[in-house]
Amino acid sequence: MKKLVLQLLTGLLIIGALLVGMKIWFLPKFVYKRNARSAEKVVTSVSSKGKSEEDGYETYTFEEASKKFTVDQSLLLVNKDHTISSDYPADIVEYKDTGVLMNSCIIDSYAKLSKAVMDETGDKLFVMSSYRSYDDQQRVLEEEGPEIAALPGTSEHQTGLALDVYISEYAGAGFIQCDAGIFVNEHCYDYGFIIRYPYGGEDITGFEYEPWHIRYVGLPHSKIIEESGCLFEDYAELFEVGEYSEYDGYLIGRMPKDEIKIPKDSKDVVISEDGLGYVFVTIKTEAK
Ligand SMILES: [Zn+2]
Repeated sequence: MKKLVLQLLTGLLIIGALLVGMKIWFLPKFVYKRNARSAEKVVTSVSSKGKSEEDGYETYTFEEASKKFTVDQSLLLVNKDHTISSDYPADIVEYKDTGVLMNSCIIDSYAKLSKAVMDETGDKLFVMSSYRSYDDQQRVLEEEGPEIAALPGTSEHQTGLALDVYISEYAGAGFIQCDAGIFVNEHCYDYGFIIRYPYGGEDITGFEYEPWHIRYVGLPHSKIIEESGCLFEDYAELFEVGEYSEYDGYLIGRMPKDEIKIPKDSKDVVISEDGLGYVFVTIKTEAK
């Protein structure tokens, strides 16, 4: 009898250990698949090269375009190789009287994402860290050291476009172990955000997988990044300068700053610098 109980207990222990192992094994990791699907297959090229006014395009300088269309900072690449100055004019506003500062272009999208998290998981999403000025970043660096903290001018937090999110009891690396974390990692792309430092992208981003750090790039760019499986570091290069591509009711062009071609009579145009010397033009062609 005693032997049987022992055997049963051992059996239960083994099953328990297996279950724990499986849970760890199956923990979702948002794996970056470099060139998993080339972006040419995700977006459709619409040739505009050499096209001029007669062909239905108008050409603007950045300054001229800024007066006529919406300009935001959503697609700015910031990393150790593409830095921003200490006086970068990040367009910062407060999120709904919470004291949390963010780039103005992400306010509506963050509200939608956090509502979706609440609706789908019942959890309230909080922001641990959002906008940090150059001086704040310098302070973080002094406190945490260069192993952990980014150098001032190299952190996306200085643009207000990056948010470190959490829910009660699940912050940091543990964020992916709760439903809200899984939801954010799987669906933030539908709200204009990307997991900026996915698992497997360390060599290029310089960061280990950070399931809590979401970065706004806007629609439909977040969806294209998800579908093509690329890193934000590679994103701009997917678009040939001077050309337009089509994606799901949007036209996307990457243009030289002094020669921004925009189809005549376009409404719903957003222009954003890419941090590499060019601008993205995003045009919504179908109402959604
Ligand atoms: Zn962060």
